[in-house]
Amino acid sequence: MQGYIININNVKDEDLIVSILTNNNFYTTYRFYGARHSIINIGYKIDFEIETNMKSSIPRLKDVLQISYPWIMDSSKLYCWQRFLKLFYPHLKDVEEIESFYFDLLNELAHKMIKQNPKRAIIESYVKLCEHEGRLHTEYECLLCEEIILNDISLVRSFLPTHKKCSYSKSFKLSQIQELFEEKSLISFSDDEVEYLWNILLQGL
Ligand SMILES: [Zn+2]
Repeated sequence: MQGYIININNVKDEDLIVSILTNNNFYTTYRFYGARHSIINIGYKIDFEIETNMKSSIPRLKDVLQISYPWIMDSSKLYCWQRFLKLFYPHLKDVEEIESFYFDLLNELAHKMIKQNPKRAIIESYVKLCEHEGRLHTEYECLLCEEIILNDISLVRSFLPTHKKCSYSKSFKLSQIQELFEEKSLISFSDDEVEYLWNILLQGL
Protein backbone atom coordinates (compact mmCIF):
# COMPACT_ATOMS: atom_id res chain seq x y z
CA MET A 1 0.00 0.00 0.00
CA GLN A 2 1.00 3.65 -0.23
CA GLY A 3 1.22 6.35 2.38
CA TYR A 4 2.86 9.50 3.60
CA ILE A 5 5.34 9.45 6.47
CA ILE A 6 4.16 12.04 8.97
CA ASN A 7 6.26 11.18 12.00
CA ILE A 8 9.47 9.36 12.87
CA ASN A 9 10.76 8.61 16.36
CA ASN A 10 14.13 7.09 17.13
CA VAL A 11 14.03 4.15 19.48
CA LYS A 12 16.84 1.90 20.65
CA ASP A 13 19.90 1.48 18.42
CA GLU A 14 18.90 2.68 14.97
CA ASP A 15 15.35 1.38 15.06
CA LEU A 16 12.51 3.73 14.26
CA ILE A 17 8.83 4.16 15.01
CA VAL A 18 7.32 5.40 11.76
CA SER A 19 3.81 6.86 11.49
CA ILE A 20 2.19 6.65 8.09
CA LEU A 21 -0.98 8.20 6.70
CA THR A 22 -2.63 6.11 3.98
CA ASN A 23 -5.82 6.47 2.00
CA ASN A 24 -8.02 5.43 4.91
CA ASN A 25 -5.76 4.57 7.78
CA PHE A 26 -3.10 5.77 10.12
CA TYR A 27 -0.35 3.27 10.88
CA THR A 28 2.22 3.33 13.62
CA THR A 29 4.93 0.88 12.57
CA TYR A 30 8.29 -0.35 13.77
CA ARG A 31 11.29 -0.37 11.49
CA PHE A 32 14.31 -2.42 12.45
CA TYR A 33 17.64 -1.03 11.48
CA GLY A 34 19.33 -2.73 8.57
CA ALA A 35 21.94 -1.77 6.03
CA ARG A 36 19.81 -2.60 3.05
CA HIS A 37 16.89 -0.42 4.05
CA SER A 38 16.01 2.51 1.86
CA ILE A 39 16.30 5.96 3.38
CA ILE A 40 13.10 7.27 4.85
CA ASN A 41 12.22 10.74 5.99
CA ILE A 42 9.25 12.81 7.09
CA GLY A 43 7.13 13.78 4.12
CA TYR A 44 8.24 10.94 1.92
CA LYS A 45 5.58 9.03 0.06
CA ILE A 46 6.28 5.33 0.25
CA ASP A 47 5.00 2.04 -0.97
CA PHE A 48 5.22 -0.43 1.90
CA GLU A 49 3.99 -3.58 3.58
CA ILE A 50 3.34 -4.26 7.23
CA GLU A 51 3.81 -7.49 9.09
CA THR A 52 1.91 -8.14 12.27
CA ASN A 53 3.43 -10.26 14.95
CA MET A 54 1.78 -11.86 17.97
CA LYS A 55 4.75 -10.88 20.13
CA SER A 56 4.58 -7.18 19.38
CA SER A 57 1.77 -4.66 19.52
CA ILE A 58 3.32 -2.60 16.73
CA PRO A 59 3.41 -4.03 13.19
CA ARG A 60 6.74 -4.20 11.44
CA LEU A 61 7.37 -1.92 8.47
CA LYS A 62 8.89 -3.72 5.51
CA ASP A 63 9.45 -3.64 1.76
CA VAL A 64 9.65 0.15 1.75
CA LEU A 65 10.01 1.80 -1.62
CA GLN A 66 10.17 5.56 -1.95
CA ILE A 67 7.82 7.19 -4.44
CA SER A 68 9.61 10.31 -5.56
CA TYR A 69 8.16 13.76 -6.28
CA PRO A 70 9.25 15.68 -9.39
CA TRP A 71 10.45 18.45 -7.02
CA ILE A 72 12.25 16.24 -4.50
CA MET A 73 15.63 17.80 -5.33
CA ASP A 74 14.26 21.32 -4.76
CA SER A 75 15.28 21.82 -1.14
CA SER A 76 12.99 24.81 -0.49
CA LYS A 77 9.94 22.87 -1.72
CA LEU A 78 10.90 19.78 0.24
CA TYR A 79 11.48 21.85 3.38
CA CYS A 80 8.02 23.48 3.21
CA TRP A 81 6.41 20.14 2.41
CA GLN A 82 8.05 18.44 5.39
CA ARG A 83 7.03 21.22 7.77
CA PHE A 84 3.42 20.88 6.59
CA LEU A 85 3.34 17.06 6.70
CA LYS A 86 4.71 17.07 10.23
CA LEU A 87 1.62 18.98 11.39
CA PHE A 88 -0.62 16.09 10.38
CA TYR A 89 0.75 13.86 13.12
CA PRO A 90 -0.64 15.76 16.14
CA HIS A 91 -3.76 16.53 14.12
CA LEU A 92 -4.64 12.96 13.15
CA LYS A 93 -2.91 10.64 15.59
CA ASP A 94 -5.96 10.12 17.78
CA VAL A 95 -8.52 9.98 14.99
CA GLU A 96 -9.98 6.51 14.67
CA GLU A 97 -11.28 6.58 11.14
CA ILE A 98 -9.28 8.52 8.60
CA GLU A 99 -11.19 9.76 5.60
CA SER A 100 -9.55 9.54 2.19
CA PHE A 101 -9.83 13.35 2.02
CA TYR A 102 -6.40 13.83 3.64
CA PHE A 103 -4.54 11.41 1.40
CA ASP A 104 -6.25 12.84 -1.69
CA LEU A 105 -5.45 16.39 -0.57
CA LEU A 106 -1.76 15.55 -0.22
CA ASN A 107 -1.69 13.82 -3.60
CA GLU A 108 -3.23 16.89 -5.18
CA LEU A 109 -0.88 19.24 -3.34
CA ALA A 110 2.25 17.28 -4.33
CA HIS A 111 1.13 17.64 -7.92
CA LYS A 112 0.35 21.36 -7.61
CA MET A 113 3.79 22.00 -6.16
CA ILE A 114 5.42 20.97 -9.44
CA LYS A 115 4.48 24.37 -10.84
CA GLN A 116 3.32 26.46 -7.91
CA ASN A 117 5.17 28.25 -5.14
CA PRO A 118 5.17 25.77 -2.22
CA LYS A 119 3.89 28.08 0.50
CA ARG A 120 1.05 29.36 -1.69
CA ALA A 121 0.06 25.84 -2.70
CA ILE A 122 0.19 24.58 0.88
CA ILE A 123 -1.87 27.46 2.31
CA GLU A 124 -4.54 27.01 -0.35
CA SER A 125 -4.71 23.29 0.47
CA TYR A 126 -4.86 24.08 4.16
CA VAL A 127 -7.94 26.27 3.60
CA LYS A 128 -9.58 23.30 1.87
CA LEU A 129 -8.74 21.18 4.91
CA CYS A 130 -10.35 23.70 7.28
CA GLU A 131 -13.43 23.80 5.07
CA HIS A 132 -13.66 20.02 4.99
CA GLU A 133 -13.47 19.88 8.77
CA GLY A 134 -16.20 22.51 9.08
CA ARG A 135 -14.03 25.12 10.72
CA LEU A 136 -13.60 27.69 7.99
CA HIS A 137 -15.41 30.76 9.29
CA THR A 138 -17.01 32.32 6.26
CA GLU A 139 -19.52 34.26 8.32
CA TYR A 140 -16.57 36.56 9.21
CA GLU A 141 -17.50 36.97 12.82
CA CYS A 142 -14.74 38.03 15.20
CA LEU A 143 -13.53 35.23 17.44
CA LEU A 144 -12.90 37.69 20.27
CA CYS A 145 -15.83 40.12 20.35
CA GLU A 146 -18.31 38.09 18.26
CA GLU A 147 -19.25 41.12 16.12
CA ILE A 148 -19.30 40.88 12.31
CA ILE A 149 -16.10 42.03 10.58
CA LEU A 150 -16.80 44.61 7.90
CA ASN A 151 -13.42 46.00 6.91
CA ASP A 152 -9.96 45.09 8.10
CA ILE A 153 -9.69 41.47 9.11
CA SER A 154 -6.94 39.65 10.98
CA LEU A 155 -6.41 35.93 11.20
CA VAL A 156 -5.17 34.06 14.24
CA ARG A 157 -4.28 30.38 14.71
CA SER A 158 -6.36 27.99 12.54
CA PHE A 159 -7.12 31.03 10.35
CA LEU A 160 -9.85 32.16 12.71
CA PRO A 161 -11.05 35.68 11.83
CA THR A 162 -10.77 38.59 14.23
CA HIS A 163 -10.97 42.36 14.05
CA LYS A 164 -7.62 44.05 13.73
CA LYS A 165 -8.50 46.11 16.80
CA CYS A 166 -9.33 42.99 18.83
CA SER A 167 -6.26 40.83 18.15
CA TYR A 168 -3.77 43.67 17.48
CA SER A 169 -2.34 41.74 14.57
CA LYS A 170 -1.64 42.27 10.89
CA SER A 171 -4.77 43.00 8.89
CA PHE A 172 -5.97 42.15 5.40
CA LYS A 173 -8.73 43.54 3.25
CA LEU A 174 -11.92 41.58 3.84
CA SER A 175 -12.12 40.96 0.07
CA GLN A 176 -8.70 39.26 0.14
CA ILE A 177 -9.73 36.83 2.86
CA GLN A 178 -13.06 36.22 1.14
CA GLU A 179 -11.17 35.27 -2.01
CA LEU A 180 -8.93 32.94 -0.02
CA PHE A 181 -11.75 31.30 1.94
CA GLU A 182 -14.31 31.10 -0.83
CA GLU A 183 -12.17 30.58 -3.94
CA LYS A 184 -9.10 29.05 -2.23
CA SER A 185 -6.93 31.58 -4.00
CA LEU A 186 -3.99 33.65 -2.77
CA ILE A 187 -3.69 35.57 -6.01
CA SER A 188 -4.17 38.99 -4.40
CA PHE A 189 -1.67 38.35 -1.58
CA SER A 190 1.90 39.64 -1.70
CA ASP A 191 4.81 37.35 -0.87
CA ASP A 192 5.14 39.07 2.52
CA GLU A 193 1.48 38.40 3.26
CA VAL A 194 1.88 34.77 2.22
CA GLU A 195 4.84 34.52 4.58
CA TYR A 196 2.68 35.90 7.38
CA LEU A 197 -0.06 33.31 6.73
CA TRP A 198 2.56 30.58 6.49
CA ASN A 199 3.76 31.39 9.98
CA ILE A 200 0.19 31.20 11.32
CA LEU A 201 -0.21 27.80 9.66
CA LEU A 202 2.95 26.50 11.31
CA GLN A 203 1.36 27.04 14.72
CA GLY A 204 -0.73 23.94 14.00
CA LEU A 205 -3.46 22.64 11.76
ZN1 LIG B 1 -13.60 41.80 17.38
